Amino acid sequence: MIGRFAPTPSGRMHLGNLYCALMAWLSARFQGGAFIVRIEDLDAGRCHFEPHIEKVFDDLRWLGIDWDAGEDPESFQSRRSAIYEEYFEKLKQVAEIYPCYCSRAELHAASAPHLADGQPLYDGRCYRAWKDGVNPVIGRKPAWRIHLLAKEITFTDQVMGDYRENLATQCGDFILRRSDGVYAYQLAVVVDDALSGVTEVVRGCDLLSSTPRQIWLHRLLGFPEPVYAHLPLLVGADGHRLAKRLGDLDAGMLREMTTAEELIGNLAASLNLIDRPEPLTARELVAHFRWDAIPKEDVRSVVG
Ligand SMILES: [Zn+2]
Repeated sequence: MIGRFAPTPSGRMHLGNLYCALMAWLSARFQGGAFIVRIEDLDAGRCHFEPHIEKVFDDLRWLGIDWDAGEDPESFQSRRSAIYEEYFEKLKQVAEIYPCYCSRAELHAASAPHLADGQPLYDGRCYRAWKDGVNPVIGRKPAWRIHLLAKEITFTDQVMGDYRENLATQCGDFILRRSDGVYAYQLAVVVDDALSGVTEVVRGCDLLSSTPRQIWLHRLLGFPEPVYAHLPLLVGADGHRLAKRLGDLDAGMLREMTTAEELIGNLAASLNLIDRPEPLTARELVAHFRWDAIPKEDVRSVVG
């Protein structure tokens, strides 16, 4: 079995990232599996990721996590666009992929219902134009969307339980390649997980709604499907989600406030893996790991 942690290095990692990394690592090591770290820097052309990448590995080492692959060039999405292109072309053989010329403003003006992740349900105007052979808009580079059939995807998450989504009515045609040529996260994740043999995906439950799209891409490409575990979000003492409080709970601050052993012990107690907080190393926590202990509801942070 192979597990993974795949951060986007848009800044110093925060407590939510460390928690996610720890859980993915624990599950992999508990099962005697391998663990890989992948850097999701797809947007390297627009974002400045370099200053943060070394810190990702440094903060993971501080936490007591090790990995079997992670610092090699293959682990960086920004260096893999030729591979994504290959699978984008393969998808064209088995699904309808069409150019979408809509601007961001046009997409938001279309008064379609919004999904949980904030994206509007695409109204399909460019799909209809493509089917009708209508000439494209001149002078604008298209994004490329994949057309979804009214297909229900179901899976059982190791933490959140049964989950189902109708791709056509709850998701809508989604982008595989942006107009600037950058491949979409949904495609890159599926290709990377499959090619690196990942069998278990552990991540925050804010990504639960993107999982049916990824499962569908796995099936279209003939890849085996990984199992999933979507973690309850950590919230601060005041109930706010930690991701919104990056500034005051980043790994640099945490490392001044606490030791890795104290942090791990507190997290483990909050997640019902141990009875009460006591300092322990990541390696020591492996023996206590089990998915069925993890609550589905938001978990109140013990730090910050
Ligand atoms: Zn369009």
